[in-house]
Amino acid sequence: MPPVVPFVDLRAMNDEVRAAIFDRWTALVDGDAFVGGEEIDRFEQRWASYCGAKFAVGVGNGTDALEITLRALGIGAGDEVIVPANTFVATAEAVVHAGATPRFVDVDPETLLLDAESVAAVVGPATAAVIAVHLYGQPVDLTALGALCRSNGLALIEDAAQAHGAMWEGRRVGGFGDVGAFSFYPGKNLGAMGDAGALVTNDPALAERIRSIANHGRAMRDVRFHERLGSNSRLDAMQAAVLDVKLDHLDRWNAARRRAAHVYASLLPSDVEPVRVDERADAVHHLHVVRTAGRDGLREALRQRGISTGVHYAVPCHALTYFDTGSTEHLAVVEQAAGEILSLPMYPHLTRPDIEMVCDALARERSTA
Ligand SMILES: *Cc1c(COP(=O)(O)O)cnc(C)c1O
Repeated sequence: MPPVVPFVDLRAMNDEVRAAIFDRWTALVDGDAFVGGEEIDRFEQRWASYCGAKFAVGVGNGTDALEITLRALGIGAGDEVIVPANTFVATAEAVVHAGATPRFVDVDPETLLLDAESVAAVVGPATAAVIAVHLYGQPVDLTALGALCRSNGLALIEDAAQAHGAMWEGRRVGGFGDVGAFSFYPGKNLGAMGDAGALVTNDPALAERIRSIANHGRAMRDVRFHERLGSNSRLDAMQAAVLDVKLDHLDRWNAARRRAAHVYASLLPSDVEPVRVDERADAVHHLHVVRTAGRDGLREALRQRGISTGVHYAVPCHALTYFDTGSTEHLAVVEQAAGEILSLPMYPHLTRPDIEMVCDALARERSTA
């Protein structure tokens, strides 16, 4: 039996763009530009300008985007990179694959995002960069973090994989840091029909290094030469076409998510609290995360009523033993939150009746708990 209210509904979005995507795909199949070519150039230019950045480089996925960023910045063995403990594992995986060490820090108790104070407390001689994760579609305080990174000579990398189009003080995220890294995994706010990712930056030399690393270390001035150790992580034309078509809909879809978040806010029972969004942020609600006591029982009760939910994330990164950070430190805020957070259904085509059903179920289960 399909869920009554699914966690995400990609089909409803794809129905709006199906015809346009098939047109572009047909043209691609009839041509020969599958890796590189016009579709990619066009999407990269549009994505850079959408993010308010000078350059965009398409890559294979969001994890590669982060790893390539670190490599292009010369960050590796012996370097520490500060990462919030509340993030998707990929943020920290990328640090390890680049040869550096993730240094996990606790998050703000209300927003559950990286905050400048926790970062400042752990900056040391080995610190090379900070990865600011705009988790759940909520921008972190880029004003405070930007100032902290500048005054300590640290690179600021934005992990914007969940925050396409989100704004901090009226400016889109991605272009604040040295590099902004995006994933276009199908379930993200801007999703491909397969794996894809991109980076944005305002630094031309960095953009060129990134492009070279993602393409076998080729020299951009003459592609016959390979001038550095690279990898293969390229955006392909089929995915670039999907992203280019969907980009026309992104703001409208994000606005629909915002409306859904407002409806939730008016209908949620009082002991189920949405995670706070900073007043300076324009969030894009990739996930709708609430906090509540008795989370696991509630989640199971919703499942029995056909309502799908998630937990982002059940185990904080610093507690994952394969990130051997040599510390057994406790991060109190994220550890407590991990037992209370619940991600409710959230997608652009979520209707008011859907949200009423979710909130009714929550209210009923809370009152019998
Ligand atoms: C999805 C995601 C990534 C990784 O992206 P992939 O395209 O799956 O490699 C990185 N960071 C965050 C916060 C994400 O949500």
